Amino acid sequence: MLLSGRNKQCGSSSPGQTGHCPLNKHLSISGITDSPLCRACMETEETPIHIMLQCNGVAEQRAARLGSTATLHEALGDLGGLLSFWSELGWME
Ligand SMILES: [Zn+2]
Repeated sequence: MLLSGRNKQCGSSSPGQTGHCPLNKHLSISGITDSPLCRACMETEETPIHIMLQCNGVAEQRAARLGSTATLHEALGDLGGLLSFWSELGWME
């Protein structure tokens, strides 16, 4: 009795190609100012929140234009005062 070998091909497995699409987040940080420190008090990072609410260096101007705003909500509630405050500082130019 002849045993004939049979080549069984259990399906053809083709190498699957999974499309990887790497996301390269390119963050370009352009230096706007030389120092991140607040230009008025040089104590902490200069952020709009800091300027509008916390900074002691512009406390007089802020009090004159905005009054005593303790929260960002209050500051934003007085856009007229806020704009005049910023324009008085002259930092937006
Ligand atoms: Zn400051």
